[in-house]
Amino acid sequence: MKISEDSEEQSFKDAPCLGLTEIFYNYSDKQALVAEKICNECKYQKPCLDGAIVRGEFNGVWGGFNFSNQRSRAEFVKELKWIYQMMNG
Ligand code: SF4
Repeated sequence: MKISEDSEEQSFKDAPCLGLTEIFYNYSDKQALVAEKICNECKYQKPCLDGAIVRGEFNGVWGGFNFSNQRSRAEFVKELKWIYQMMNG
């Protein structure tokens, strides 16, 4: 299970990532791509991504974004802006 038991994310109790910790903490690029695809179909994608940004996640796929793959701070911010544009039209 990816979602922590004691956080505001507890309301994500039917999220499709439940039980898929290994995939969502992407020990391989292929697993990360699978996780991102699952997120893109998840109804919690936006609040999940928002929460991950607020918490400063540095590992795992959250809201369709691979936080483990931050090549540089500048690239990270650029990718987040792109994701927000895609999600908010
Ligand atoms: S967006 Fe991804 S990580 Fe977030 S709750 Fe949905 S499936 Fe899980």
